[in-house]
Amino acid sequence: MALEQAGFDVQRAAGFGAKRHMLVARLAPRWPVRRHLPQMPYLGTLQWLARVHMAPCAARALGVLQLAVDDTEAAAMASACRALGLPAAYARYVDPRAASALAGLALRRGGLWVARGHAIDAGAFTRALLAAAGERVRVHCGVDVRQLVAEADGWVAQWDGGSLRAPVTVLANALDVPDLAPMPRVALRAVRGRLSLLAGAPLPPLRCALAGDGYRVSGTDNGAAAVGSTYELELPGKPGFDDDPQRAHEGNLARLRRLLGATPEVRIMGLFDALRCVSQDRLPLAGAVPADPPQPMPGAQLADLPRRAGRYCLTALGSRGLTLAPLMAELVAAQIEGEPSPLERDLLAVVDPARFALQRLRRGRYRRR
Ligand SMILES: Cc1cc2nc3c(=O)[nH]c(=O)nc-3n(C[C@H](O)[C@H](O)[C@H](O)COP(=O)(O)OP(=O)(O)OC[C@H]3O[C@@H](n4cnc5c(N)ncnc54)[C@H](O)[C@@H]3O)c2cc1C
Repeated sequence: MALEQAGFDVQRAAGFGAKRHMLVARLAPRWPVRRHLPQMPYLGTLQWLARVHMAPCAARALGVLQLAVDDTEAAAMASACRALGLPAAYARYVDPRAASALAGLALRRGGLWVARGHAIDAGAFTRALLAAAGERVRVHCGVDVRQLVAEADGWVAQWDGGSLRAPVTVLANALDVPDLAPMPRVALRAVRGRLSLLAGAPLPPLRCALAGDGYRVSGTDNGAAAVGSTYELELPGKPGFDDDPQRAHEGNLARLRRLLGATPEVRIMGLFDALRCVSQDRLPLAGAVPADPPQPMPGAQLADLPRRAGRYCLTALGSRGLTLAPLMAELVAAQIEGEPSPLERDLLAVVDPARFALQRLRRGRYRRR
């Protein structure tokens, strides 16, 4: 029982010798490492928020209610909270009645209540971080870096009409990272997202952010809201690309109806249309940029793979940039400085930009391109 409660699958198998049976245990954590990753950085982001001073409307701890999409998921959420023994101040399961009281709306299903969940204005957050850093960060806006040239003591970033030298570069330019730093076996993909922006009135008032199959966040004190989001693989110039904003609104309003279990009257103000950057396994890339491994490398580990000196990346944050970026940034900074990593080894491997090359090497299928 103790093993089972700790997340082991326990089987009784035929034994030997004087004993009739032996116990065979296989670790089967209920939160596999890959699924565990997005939960951790949330606390890191809260710490960063605490460090910078933001106007209350730009970062409000309204709480986030993650509604179950059906009764099966609701039961799974409730039992996961019990089994994991999560502190209620972090997350707890709430039934439909408690969920409705928290949201200030009648809701059909319960879900996870994350009391310290925030609604954040990403632009204001970035400005607050820059202000907190002061003169140690210099910003060059409106430049399109065309090339990174290696020099004996570092790198030169070149753009039309200018350049910058630095001993170390961290590439955080989302989908365009591979243009400046090609990485073996990394394939980034753009996933378009369109959010509908709704006027405050006549939307029903909402006391927290709602998530689940879609989400609704009230951005400002006047109650205006963002509702979304689409997840579109068809990009401009490709078959299936949708340039009709109306279709995006219809999809988003259908998500809102499923969330609320009702059809609210809405007034559409506009559309937010942007791209997410996603890796093959949908997890971030953060760390030293890998170089082509020499082959063969039998039994290779991530630490054995060659890297490009002084070149790091932080990208593929997918739909969770605000949550993931602060912790991933600390990880990269720790690697540059040779300090202890803020992530344990298993999680480091999950975000290492060299993981795709290693997978191929281990399967003996690595070919230089
Ligand atoms: C509709 C939608 C809703 C979302 N909702 C949420 C949410 O609720 N919560 C959340 O956490 N995340 C959300 N996200 C995801 C979030 O926006 C991203 O994860 C985040 O923006 C990634 O940050 P980034 O800095 O890596 O990339 P980006 O924000 O894409 O920034 C990359 C920057 O690099 C610049 N750049 C590129 N190439 C060059 C070059 N050669 N030279 C100079 N500059 C260059 C670009 O101009 C850009 O400014 C959402 C995304 C979408 C599309």
